[in-house]
Amino acid sequence: MSLDFKDYIASVPDFPEPGVIFRDISPLMADGKAYAAATDAIVQYAQDKGVEMIAGPEARGFIVGCPVAYKLGVGFAPARKKGKLPRETVSASYGLEYGESTLYLHKDAIKPGQRVLVCDDLLATGGTIAATIELVERLGGIVVGTAFIVELTDLHGRDKIKGYDILALTEYA
Ligand code: 5GP
Repeated sequence: MSLDFKDYIASVPDFPEPGVIFRDISPLMADGKAYAAATDAIVQYAQDKGVEMIAGPEARGFIVGCPVAYKLGVGFAPARKKGKLPRETVSASYGLEYGESTLYLHKDAIKPGQRVLVCDDLLATGGTIAATIELVERLGGIVVGTAFIVELTDLHGRDKIKGYDILALTEYA
């Protein structure tokens, strides 16, 4: 029996600021069956695409991507914020509502030609995933798909990653 992922996502009004509804995936993570079902759905998608490596931005991209990598028996490349990675990195900046942020990958995190799935918990404006894709491609990886638990369709993140395949397990307008 398939489960409805929306039943495991808490909608929190006025977080982190007034007027924003935060979609909280922690109830899904707290439920073993729901977390496994979400992981399995992404594993299936990744298998169909011949994925050889997973990449994801900190921190919730790790929560989504790492169990997928473990199940597939492939590696995981963490895209991290400034000052977290100890060795040589590549970086990509992206715009936030106010200002900008930068993500980094270790230079040897992806091998040229590797087929990579980029995962995060949620697709909003698409800036975070676009920066992660840019990093993977700068290292020669081939982004064969992207996967999210939630897509916020009204924010049109898809438009920022046109041409890339997207799996979203559930959507909110
Ligand atoms: P974007 O860069 O697509 O605008 O925002 C997506 C990033 O912000 C993701 O890394 C995600 O973790 C975080 N994010 C933004 N809004 C939400 C939200 O409502 N719920 C969750 N869980 N994460 C969010």
